[in-house]
Amino acid sequence: MTQDASRHLFQRHRAVLPDWLALYYDDPIEITHGEGRHVWDADGNKYLDFFGGILTTMTAHALPEVTKAVTEQAGRIVHSSTLYLNRPMVDLAERIAKLSGIPDARVFFTTSGTEANDTALLLATTHRRSNQILAMRNSYHGRSFSTVGITGNKGWSPTSLSPLQTLYVHGGVRTRGPYADLDDAGFIAACVADLEDLLGHVRPPAALIAEPIQGVGGFTSPPDGLYAAFRKVLRERGVLWIADEVQTGWGRTGETFWGWQAHGADGPPDILTFAKGIGNGMSIGGVVARAEIMNCLDSNSISTFGGTQITMAAGLANLTYLLEHDLQGNARRVGGLLIERLRAAAAQVPAVREVRGRGLMIGVELVRPGTDSADPEAAAAVLEAARADGLLLGKGGGHSTSALRVAPPMTLTVAEAEEGAAILERALRSIR
Ligand code: PMP
Repeated sequence: MTQDASRHLFQRHRAVLPDWLALYYDDPIEITHGEGRHVWDADGNKYLDFFGGILTTMTAHALPEVTKAVTEQAGRIVHSSTLYLNRPMVDLAERIAKLSGIPDARVFFTTSGTEANDTALLLATTHRRSNQILAMRNSYHGRSFSTVGITGNKGWSPTSLSPLQTLYVHGGVRTRGPYADLDDAGFIAACVADLEDLLGHVRPPAALIAEPIQGVGGFTSPPDGLYAAFRKVLRERGVLWIADEVQTGWGRTGETFWGWQAHGADGPPDILTFAKGIGNGMSIGGVVARAEIMNCLDSNSISTFGGTQITMAAGLANLTYLLEHDLQGNARRVGGLLIERLRAAAAQVPAVREVRGRGLMIGVELVRPGTDSADPEAAAAVLEAARADGLLLGKGGGHSTSALRVAPPMTLTVAEAEEGAAILERALRSIR
């Protein structure tokens, strides 16, 4: 495995870009091209990509349908997203409104998940006339001033000067924590009691924002039903529920199309945010809310790049591909196999505390053998070993980054799942 081209670029990167941009690997790599579930770096090394699926590439690298839609649209027109009628935006908004499950839904497009959540906060605080927000401990919601302010994972939250007042809620993480030993029903009851206690001491906050499964936080696994139980309490007090589906949406979790749907039948969130791979590489984020909430802003607004014709064309082509090829079903089937395979491998490796997840959103939590202490060094070592063996993984977690994150493009085949699982198993066995 050679590294020279990437090494040179790394030196230039360090000299001109901010120090706080997180970069993977001791020797960071430049990815130059991709196809399907594979990518290549500037030094010619080939990797099976078990992480890009949750970032930019929901379906497949260089998906011909998306490339065609983008190049055709680029050759036709890209103009202001919102000052003139934008046909692909209306087309995609109609489809997402319907898929969201939110009645009388309106959709607003942004360029990122950060901006989507920022807009959701603007809507919720304006609608409820409150600048208090409930957020989950260990959560991640973006990198803008308002979203770092509410982000519960303080490793990703560089300021305490937020314009919002945030109250943090238990429940997003099951591993460790005060209620870790309780069964599902007991865990939910304890978290609900916590929430009720908190709400008993404050005026009703504007909203609770939560990721159905925490992404940056390490693909955590709160018990099904938690958010339905929270919802009941929130409704009684007039507090809105914002589901941040930036990582969990579009069928990735296999059983359900949205992450919130795993939590039971208490209805859709008041506001839903999405982003990342829906454009399969083109920058799309967005907010879906009931008309009554979306239209609570009474001054003008515009967005130059949120929902450009080119990103909307990509989103339409990608969403069509995703639905026509039942990639949710693929995530369920292939993801299920992958989880089984990783659990079997993990049973032989004392450093693995648990393999958790759903569909193609799988977390592997590492601990120091014989203890329950998170082991970020082991996670970093496995990441490096897997890369050297041709597999890209992600990592995440709370105060320490001790979980590996597996989130391949949703077209992953059984053979690729087997191949990746074998590499990951070797990497796990190689540490210590
Ligand atoms: N919400 C969640 C749950 C995320 O995982 C992320 C990105 N990691 C964001 C919001 C922010 O999205 P972006 O990076 O597109 O601004």
